[in-house]
Amino acid sequence: MTLADLIPSLRTSIDRLPTPEIWPSTTRLTRSGDLTVGGVALSELAGRFGTPTYVVDETQIRANCRAYRHALPDVEIAYAGKAFLTRAVVGWIAEEGLSLDVCSAGELAVAMAAGYPAERIILHGNAKSPDDLKAAMRAGVGRVVVDSLDEVGQLGALATAQPVLVRVTPGVDGHTHTAVATGVEDQKFGFSLASGAAAEAVRRVLAEPSLRLVGLHCHIGSQVARVADFELAARRMVGLLDLVRDEHGIALPQLNLGGGHVVPYLAGDEGFDLSGFADRIRGAVHYECSRRGLPAPRLTIEPGRSLVARAGITLYRVVTVKHGTNRTFVAVDGGMSDNARPALYGARYAVRLAGRASQAPDAPVTVVGRHCEAGDVIAQDVPLPADIHAGDLLAVPCTGAYHHSLASNYNMVGRPPVVAVRDGAPRLLVRGETAQDLLARDVGV
Ligand SMILES: *Cc1c(COP(=O)(O)O)cnc(C)c1O
Repeated sequence: MTLADLIPSLRTSIDRLPTPEIWPSTTRLTRSGDLTVGGVALSELAGRFGTPTYVVDETQIRANCRAYRHALPDVEIAYAGKAFLTRAVVGWIAEEGLSLDVCSAGELAVAMAAGYPAERIILHGNAKSPDDLKAAMRAGVGRVVVDSLDEVGQLGALATAQPVLVRVTPGVDGHTHTAVATGVEDQKFGFSLASGAAAEAVRRVLAEPSLRLVGLHCHIGSQVARVADFELAARRMVGLLDLVRDEHGIALPQLNLGGGHVVPYLAGDEGFDLSGFADRIRGAVHYECSRRGLPAPRLTIEPGRSLVARAGITLYRVVTVKHGTNRTFVAVDGGMSDNARPALYGARYAVRLAGRASQAPDAPVTVVGRHCEAGDVIAQDVPLPADIHAGDLLAVPCTGAYHHSLASNYNMVGRPPVVAVRDGAPRLLVRGETAQDLLARDVGV
C-alpha cells in the first residue's frame, strides 16, 4: 500500500506531472512510476516497438491545430510540414482544416500520397531544384513562394498561370539562434526589403506572363518569442504592399507572415502568447492598411514547431552509466542521429525516468548518445534518480518537431519508428529502419 492509497488527497498530486507544460496534455503518471500518453504506457510502447522510438500524441497535435484556428478564425493556418511529416500527420492536418507548406519534391510526395488537396499546398525553398519545381507544377500546387530571380525565370518557363508570392526579408531580428534567424538582412532567404531587391522581384514576377503574383511572404525565424518582432515585420510588409500598389496599381490580396512561434522545451521556458499575437498582428495589419487606404489582405501564418513539438516524446533505453571525474554520463541507445538539435543549435532538453518508480534522490547527470562524437549529448546536467542503471527507460519530451524530420543514419544506425497514440491505442506510422534498409541503397561493389 502506498502513501497515496492511505491519503486520497495525495493521489491527484501523484497523477500530475511536475512540469505538465512540456509533455503532451494526455500524459499521466501511474502509481508504478510509469507514464501514460494517449492512454498508453510508455513501458508498453518500448516493449512493443523497441527503443529508440518516437511517440506522438495525435490528440495534442489536433488540439494545437484547433487552438490556432480558434485564436485566428479569419486567418489561413498553413502547417510547415518540414517540422514533422508523415502521411498520417498530413491527414490530421487536412481534417483540422489547415493548409500545408512543403519545401521539396519529397515533402510534396508525402502530401500527395496522403491525398492532400494540391491547391492548398504552398511550396517554399531558397534553392528549389528543377525537380522540385517540375513536381510542384505536375501536382498543381496552389502557391509557390519565389525566393530568387533565377527561380522566377525557371518557374516561369514551366508554369501556366501559377499563383506565386514573393519571399521578402523584412530586416527584423527575431532574437533567436543565428542558425534559424531568417528575417535579418544578409542571409540566404528571400529578397531584401531595404535594398529594393523585393520591389525588383515583384517587377520581374509581374513581367513573367505565366506567373500570377498573389501576395508577399516573410518568415523571420524559428523559436521567436516576441510578438513585437512579428508585429514589426507585418508593418513593414504592409509598407511594401503599399509600394506595389503605388508602382503597379495593384492591391495584392495575400500576406503570409510565416511561422516560428516559440515553444517551451524546459520547465519555466517562455510559451507563445497566441492570443496576444492574434490581436496585435491583426491590429497592426488593419491599422497600417487603413491609414494607407489599402484593402486588408488575407493573412496566412505558417506554424510548424508550435503545432507538433509538444506532441512528441522520444523513448530510450539506458545502455550504461559511467562515472567520470566530475560528471555522471548516462548513455542511451540513440542520440544525435534521432535528435540533432543539441548539436545544431545547443538545444536543451528535459529527461525523465519512465517505466518504474525510484525512491532514490535525484542527482545531476549528462545524458549522452551512442554516436562517435563528444558533442552527441541529449541533455546536460539534468536530474535523474541516483539509482539509474542500464536497462532503464528514459523519456525525453518535446521531441515532436525537427526530430524525425532531421534524423540521420550516422554510424549506420537505423532511424527510429514513429508510433502515434490515441484513446489507449498505439498505431505504427513509420517503421524503424533496419540494416537491410540501409544496405538496400548500397548498390556498388
Ligand atoms: C520552417 C518554416 C516555417 C515554420 O517554422 P517553425 O519554427 O517550425 O514554426 C514557416 N514558414 C517557413 C517559410 C519556413 O521555412
